[in-house]
Amino acid sequence: MRVLEPSFLRALRDLTRERNVLLILDEIQCGLGRTGHFFAYEGLDLVPDMLTVAKPLANGLPIGAVLVNEPVAGAVQPGDHGTTFGGGPLVASVAEHVVHRLSDPALLLLEHVRETGCWLHGQLTALMQRTGKIRAVRGMGFMFGVDTHEPAAAVIGRAFANGLLLVSAGEHTIRLLPPLIMTRDELQAGLAILEAALVGE
Ligand SMILES: *Cc1c(COP(=O)(O)O)cnc(C)c1O
Repeated sequence: MRVLEPSFLRALRDLTRERNVLLILDEIQCGLGRTGHFFAYEGLDLVPDMLTVAKPLANGLPIGAVLVNEPVAGAVQPGDHGTTFGGGPLVASVAEHVVHRLSDPALLLLEHVRETGCWLHGQLTALMQRTGKIRAVRGMGFMFGVDTHEPAAAVIGRAFANGLLLVSAGEHTIRLLPPLIMTRDELQAGLAILEAALVGE
């Protein structure tokens, strides 16, 4: 859970252009609204040659997809890239629905993730100052890594006992990936349980 410097990514884009190398971004976790942009790269000043998406694309039904630009598409023929369950009509229609809902401007979902994500970042930073149990907070939108002094598994275990399901990302990092529709009130309830778990309750 590390936010890459925009200047690093832009330098990578320049270097790959200069050397005629494809730039492939894996947006399986950070794509589809997670960072407050439909794709995370849209918050930066660059476009990749290829991009992968999967898990949230059909809201939990099994799917994976690779998006390519025109030059790459021109180099791939039907049959070059196959997969047993690729393009099944049920899962594909669910994916289409998810993409429409996520990108529907009337639902303001991306704005919600951006604004509430800023607020959440502030709340986590305050939690760090208040408890002294957090080493660092990294992330944006609804995607955060919270580094703990204690092993993350201990905090996660206490939170679970109090009704909050968390997952780690490394030995000392708690990964926060709340549902994109979560409200401030709901997040506040989760933060209260997280705080209790951090201080050992
Ligand atoms: C899950 C995951 C993958 C693997 O996706 P598959 O659809 O299982 O191939 C790749 N990258 C990231 C970041 C993931 O989270």
